[in-house]
Parts: sequence; structure tokens; C-alpha cells
Amino acid sequence: MEQRNGTPISKGIAVGRIWCYSNEKQSIPKYKVQHTEEEVARYEAAKGTASAELEALYKKALDEVGESDAAIFDAQSMMLSDEDFNELVYHFIRSEQVNAEYAVTVAEEKFVNIFSHMQDDYMKARAEDVRDVSQRLIAILTGQPRSRQMGGEPVIVAAKELSPSQTVQMDKNKLLGFVTETGSSNSHTAILARTMRLPALSGIEAAEQWDGRLAVIDGDEGVLYIDPDEETVAQARKRCCEEEERTKRLQRLKGKETVTRAGRKILLYANVGNLSDVEAALANDAEGVGLLRSEFLYLKKKTFPTEEELFSCYRMAAELLEGKRLTIRTLDIGADKQADYFGLKQEENPAMGFRAIRVCLDRPEIFKTQLRAVLRAGYYGDVAVMYPMIISVKEVRAISQIVEEVKQELTREHIPFGDVEQGIMIETPAAALISDRLAGEVDFFSIGTNDLSQYTLAVDRQNAKLEAYFDAHHPAILRMIRMVVENGHKGGCKVGICGELAADLTLTETFISMGVDELSVAPGSILPLRERIRSLDNPG
Ligand code: PEP
Ligand code: MG
Repeated sequence: MEQRNGTPISKGIAVGRIWCYSNEKQSIPKYKVQHTEEEVARYEAAKGTASAELEALYKKALDEVGESDAAIFDAQSMMLSDEDFNELVYHFIRSEQVNAEYAVTVAEEKFVNIFSHMQDDYMKARAEDVRDVSQRLIAILTGQPRSRQMGGEPVIVAAKELSPSQTVQMDKNKLLGFVTETGSSNSHTAILARTMRLPALSGIEAAEQWDGRLAVIDGDEGVLYIDPDEETVAQARKRCCEEEERTKRLQRLKGKETVTRAGRKILLYANVGNLSDVEAALANDAEGVGLLRSEFLYLKKKTFPTEEELFSCYRMAAELLEGKRLTIRTLDIGADKQADYFGLKQEENPAMGFRAIRVCLDRPEIFKTQLRAVLRAGYYGDVAVMYPMIISVKEVRAISQIVEEVKQELTREHIPFGDVEQGIMIETPAAALISDRLAGEVDFFSIGTNDLSQYTLAVDRQNAKLEAYFDAHHPAILRMIRMVVENGHKGGCKVGICGELAADLTLTETFISMGVDELSVAPGSILPLRERIRSLDNPG
């Protein structure tokens, strides 16, 4: 049995086989060929195989995720028969007398370059299709599978690093947990792991030879056991059973009110990223959704989602919630949440860079599409909207003006929309410090303690090395929260907390005594928090 210690970033325990996930690009050999026409034929044969693979993927995606996402594979099949692309490959094989896989990489680079410099966002996004198709061809030509699909059994994924977009694209039913080399407990990947209720560790350098071996991942103690002995497996299974017992105990709190013993009611909402999380929120008896991280829908896609796609997703969420509150946070793209088709440039300090509301105010066409979808969904349920990364009154006013324009457009077009409450995230020290002024501009505040801690403490939330400095209990953070609650209430705003700190049971009493109205947490934290609140006497 081997043992590796890491940093626990999501609690829980699981037993299963390791699946090594690699996102490194293969290095492609370049060599001279004698018979160029044979090489051209080899390329043609690879195209045939790729085409059959893409057709199978199209059918699978059609069944599992629907037509609009399946269309990616259709677009890739078209790419495969693109005359210009193929001509370039033939030309290179013949004129340079090189192997087919090398010729494909040359064509790939050239086409990626052309597409990514196009003005049109749709065409820009085609660059990723070129990459995908080329990598598929190269894998076939070299005989090395590029990225293995996960098998039937659920697995513990081991990777150097996992971005939020890679994580959201994994099949939840096939995951038991994650181990990564990099990544902190405040990263969005860690938040996703907690939302999925999967144990996760960072700081573990996985070895390729672990692939397929049995392991125990202990997200409470921060340990990964490879080839565990019988006793370790038995103990892990016992803890899984205890966890199930605890879950059963908490289930009895369903349908009960979230009130302190003194009768103070707290609204308990869920943080979600997609529709299945909304189901999890309901299964855990949340009183609504306090934070829909709407960017995760964008991260799953290869191109911008249309207004109809967004609307149908938001409407479905609102309808699933049957009159309970759905708070949609507008696009918080940038920093660690990147989608190539946005064409955002690499930055020195992405967390303090061009992200979130800054992108939306700079590219109003993207923002308006989302706002139209949000307002329209408001007709079908209790929808609220909130804006991330606010630092000034000026931004809030600019947003209000855009919201007004969108409402006028919808009215002109006779499209129904709802009365949607407007709120902002308080997640920068600037917003906290001017919360007295901001309160007059909106209906509610939602305190984002993840970013508020990162910016107040000057500690990069992504940096696993700084874990010890990321002290969200720091008096500076707690003072700011108190101040925001007081200012919000004076200005007639409701105030909630939706950062990870909201789930910290050691602070529940403090938050309630400060007057916080709402707490929004991962679905799995709802019932433990209800249990805690119901045990409190009369805080404050
Ligand atoms: C936060 O910053 O606390 C927050 C809730 O937003 P996110 O974690 O998505 O940045
Ligand atoms: Mg944030």
C-alpha cells in the first residue's frame, strides 16, 4: 500500500480505481517519407476512421445532451472534409515529403491562426474545432489514443490540474473524487467538487502507473492510499456507511423551518451551476437558489449560447423551483473561468483583470442576450438577478440603464418578461466600503466571501501555497461583513452571504447575530446548516 498526503479541498471518502487524466499535447514526430502517395493514402484512411468516430459521437451526444450540443460533432465532420484544410495537408506531404501526422499539425496551426483572428465570434470559436479534429487525426495516425474516455465504473480522477471547464464537462455519475497536483480549496474546481459532494485533494503528484489501480481517497484527512490493504478499505467503507447514517439523520430535517430557538427565521438557499444542481437543491430542501453561477453553462459550450438556450435553461430552473426564488448571477467569466470562444487575452493578474461585469459592460451584446433570457424567465417564476465584481455606483447605474433598454426592447417585441429583483455581489473591498451608497441603487446584497477574502487579504485564491494565509475568519473580513449588513439594512436592502464562508458552522451564530438575512451554500450543506441554526438559542 502506498500513501500520499495532500491538501483536502473537499470532504468525504471514496474507494475506487484511479483514472489518470492527461491534458498534455502529444509531441508529433517529423520524418521524411519515400512514397508520398502512400502517405496521402494513409491520411485518407485516417480521415475515414475519424469520420466514423465523429458520427458515433454525434449519436451519443444526441441521446445524452440534445441536438444543440451534438451539433459540435457535425461541425467537426464538416471540418474533416474541408477542401482547403485537406489540400494543405496533401500539399505539405508532397512538397516536403513528410509524414501525414506532421503535415496535419502544420495545417492545424495555420487554420487555428486564421480562425482565431476572425472578427466574428462564431468563426473564432471554430479554431477549437480545428484543434479537436486535428488531434483526433493525429491520434489515429500515430496509434496513440489522445484522451481516453472514462470507462463504465466510476473512478477517482488524478490530474496535474483541472480547470473548472474540464471539471464541468466530466460525467458526474462516473466520478468518485479528484486528486490534483495544483489547485487550492478556494478555487472554482474545489467549489465544484464540494457541490458535487465528491472528496478532493490537491498537492498530489500522480504517477502514470497508478492508472487503473485501486485507491481510497480520504478528503477529511487529506490522504490518498494506493493499493490499500484490506483494513484500509474496510475502514473506508465503514466511514461511507457512517456518512450515509448522518445523511439519514439530516433527512429528517426536511420540511422543517430554518429558525433559531428564539424564532428568528433565516432563508437558506443553494448555490448551483446547472439544472441537476437545482434538483439537488430541491432534494436538500433549499428555500430557493441564492446563486446560480451562470458562467458554467457558457464553460460547457464551444460557442456562445443563444438567447433561446439560456432562456430555456433559466425557465426550466425557475419552473423546477415552483415559485421558490431563483437568483441568477450574470456571467462571471475570466480569471480561472475561461472559454476560448470569448477570445480573452492572457493577463498578468487575471483575478484583478478583465473579468465578470467588466467583460459584460465592455461587450453589451453578450450581456444583453443574457439579460433578455433572465428577464423572460422571470415571467415563469420568482427570478432575481445579481451582478458580480462591482466596485462602483457608476457600474450599477450603467447596468440599470442596460436593463431598462432590454425591458423596452422586450416590450416593443411583445415578449413577456417578469418583475425581476436586482442585486449586486459584495465581493470587493471597494463595494463593501461604499455599501452605504450602493444600498440605494439595488434591492439586495449578496456577500461573496471567496473573492472578498482574496482581495481584502491580498491572497490569490487559486494559489495552493497560500492556503494558510487565506483566513476567511480574519477580523477584517468579519468587520466588513458586519458593515455591509448594517449599511444594506439602513438602505432597505436584504443582505445574504453566498461565499463558501456561509457554510462554515463555526460562524453561523456570528452571522445571525450580525443580522444576516440569508445564507446560500452548496446543496449538501443546507441540512447541516439548518440543524445548526435550529440549535441556536438567541444569538445577538
Ligand atoms: C464569491 O466570490 O464568494 C462567490 C460566491 O463567487 P465565486 O466563488 O463564483 O467567485
Ligand atoms: Mg466571486
